Amino acid sequence: MLDQGYQPLRVIPWQRAICMNFLGKVELVAAHARPVRTVSRDYPAPAVVRLLGPYRPQQYIVRFSRQGVHVRDRHTCQYCGVRLPRRELTLDHVIPRHRGGPTNWENIVSSCSPCNLKKGGRTPEEAGMHLASEPRRPRWTPPNMSGLDEVPPPWLDWLPKSASTDAA
Ligand SMILES: [Zn+2]
Repeated sequence: MLDQGYQPLRVIPWQRAICMNFLGKVELVAAHARPVRTVSRDYPAPAVVRLLGPYRPQQYIVRFSRQGVHVRDRHTCQYCGVRLPRRELTLDHVIPRHRGGPTNWENIVSSCSPCNLKKGGRTPEEAGMHLASEPRRPRWTPPNMSGLDEVPPPWLDWLPKSASTDAA
């Protein structure tokens, strides 16, 4: 979904995009090649929609998820920088759980197992380790969070460079 100025905002389920289109809240910018089939007729499957009204981000808070952290961190250990398949990555509480560190976007990062072990129940400072970047809640949903393995071609015109090249 794009904002009124055609900037990418976030990924929404196509079902929601169709609903919002029916309600006149978005306009269709690009459709997937294959339409959505229903009993009575085919609809163009929305690939890119543009919000026609103001964006109210509180309606679209990006929910915390394990997969989301790895996508945000580009499947890269935030301590040593190694890039790994998702199944080989762990999640690390920057401030350890037993010290009151919460499980949220701001305190969870992707980590390889060796770094996670090395850090143990310590803060990065105590362990003499450095975070590649400060963990934050993503501003909009990276492509993979919708459960897709590949970025749909119609999105490529609209995505920031970093998101479209690091979506794997
Ligand atoms: Zn590591």
